Amino acid sequence: MRRLVIAGMAVKGLGNFGGVCAGLAVPLRVKMMGWKAVRGGLATKSNIARRLRSVDSRCSLCGFPEDNELHALLECPFAKRIWECNDIDRSLWAQREPDLWTWLESVLKEGREEAMEEVLTMAWAVWGARNKTIFDTSSPSPSQVVENAWSYLKAFKENQPQVLKQGSTTPRGWRPPNAGCWKLNTDAGKLGDWDRGYVFVIRDCEGDIVTAGTQQQAGALSPEIHEATALLFGIKKA
Ligand SMILES: [Zn+2]
Repeated sequence: MRRLVIAGMAVKGLGNFGGVCAGLAVPLRVKMMGWKAVRGGLATKSNIARRLRSVDSRCSLCGFPEDNELHALLECPFAKRIWECNDIDRSLWAQREPDLWTWLESVLKEGREEAMEEVLTMAWAVWGARNKTIFDTSSPSPSQVVENAWSYLKAFKENQPQVLKQGSTTPRGWRPPNAGCWKLNTDAGKLGDWDRGYVFVIRDCEGDIVTAGTQQQAGALSPEIHEATALLFGIKKA
């Protein structure tokens, strides 16, 4: 039996999270944030303190001793004020969770892809608002953060020709490859003015996810080069 490997890293617990994330109908930057978060790659104080001893791991906003991904995105009072402003079912975010894996796994079990799209978009919005508050002089109101996040997701979905089937990680209209072959799908685009991001997912003839991955690089190129680089990235990982 083939072992599922995501971006070169065996993923515990959330076995298919990477593949589910790659197939979600959310903007690329939301997927990238989700991937970074589950891999412990967000620039939280806890993660920075592991690399720089001069940095303490306390939350810059509330002083909690361990500013990890779960705290920053869900449990910090700053984050909670934003979650409380939205219409997402409380069962998906109001429980006390031991870690980020357990939280997202419970979202997948409870609501599957549509709920995950909303939860990840809101987590992305929390992360952006948090950084703006810490590093800028302005702090958006919780209701404004929620409104902007839903507008962003709505606009994205309205411009998507392919909508995911309910309860599936394969897009509507997606055709499986022949038996014995794999199919590669990619997503690529700019992240801000200076960075670009790629997401790829490889499925077998049953539509099951074989592997998936993501990458962020500095430098903005033309859309054609973005797409070609994403394909090359996926082929190299296959
Ligand atoms: Zn905090």
